[in-house]
Amino acid sequence: MRWPGILEYFGEYLPITDKTPQITLQEGNTPLIRSYHLAKRCGVGSLYFKFEGMNPTGSFKDRGMVVAVAKAKEAGQNIVMCASTGNTSASAAAYAKRAGMQCVVLVPEGKIALGKLSQALMHGARVLALEGNFDQALSIVREITSRYPVALVNSINPHRIEGQKTASFEIEEWLGDIPDYLALPVGNAGNITAYWKGFKELISRGKTRKLPKMLGFQAQGACPLVLGKPVENPQTVATAIRIGNPASWKGAIAARDESGGLIEAVSDEEILSAQRLLAEEEGIFVEPASAASLAGVLKKQREGFFRGHETVVCVLTGHGLKDPDIAIKQCNDRIERVKPSLEEIVALLNLEGEK
Ligand SMILES: *Cc1c(COP(=O)(O)O)cnc(C)c1O
Repeated sequence: MRWPGILEYFGEYLPITDKTPQITLQEGNTPLIRSYHLAKRCGVGSLYFKFEGMNPTGSFKDRGMVVAVAKAKEAGQNIVMCASTGNTSASAAAYAKRAGMQCVVLVPEGKIALGKLSQALMHGARVLALEGNFDQALSIVREITSRYPVALVNSINPHRIEGQKTASFEIEEWLGDIPDYLALPVGNAGNITAYWKGFKELISRGKTRKLPKMLGFQAQGACPLVLGKPVENPQTVATAIRIGNPASWKGAIAARDESGGLIEAVSDEEILSAQRLLAEEEGIFVEPASAASLAGVLKKQREGFFRGHETVVCVLTGHGLKDPDIAIKQCNDRIERVKPSLEEIVALLNLEGEK
């Protein structure tokens, strides 16, 4: 089957009409990869990775962006704008061009991963580097888009949430069931809100009678939902979740409480260690923020949280190639320098049993 993308495949569940332009980069339909190695370490029955890094621009943002941009185009807008820690800007820039629109992104200066910045620039967005953080960028974008004919495509735009909820539909369809737990990183909290909305819609459509418990994980230095109050100066190596005052605060708390789940914090060390585990043991390369879901599940395992029979899905939100700097920093010392000498390389590799 040719996968058509979110608007066409899930059209009946989205707020689109005959007049909505059918934009697509064939986003969605991302792999649900069964864990070979880490399920046991997590102490659960089965573990799956929903690898959202396989979307066209390398993060789950594409699911919501295609809907938000199509609706902006339908409404006759010519410019889309967002504040971004990186992935939203990459996605907005790509889909704006797909729709023949202009894109302006406001990013915190020096705090955006190289891969993401290169995408926004290559897609021809106006990139404004703000001397400030994400929360300040978002408040400026909200003000501008409320006063001028510019469409806001951050996740406070409800069309973003509508598009992102389709990941829940895919999990139900590919798994043939609802997992016991869904673990995911939480930054601005649009995604946890969207997943929860998607699962609840499956119930109201009679597709299932079960709901997962939602396990949200924030970075220790940027965990306002855990502290119960905004964080003035959020800090974490996981730049995609470096957010001190989540726009979808209420949605995240509702997802946690209605599902009987939790939102907790994981340290940067735990995040980077989970990132390496995924790469080394499962062959899946994600950016640091994405590894917060696995880091959280491993932490809950150490606390004796799981019984051993559960089905857990970890959402891996973005691709590892987004942030090559942090990846290289962690393993640069493993590069071995060699001379162009056959003998030297054979000796170094301890090769035996020449054919
Ligand atoms: C945007 C993003 C998040 C956070 O999602 P929210 O909807 O803001 O909670 C996590 N990981 C990656 C890779 C992201 O791009």
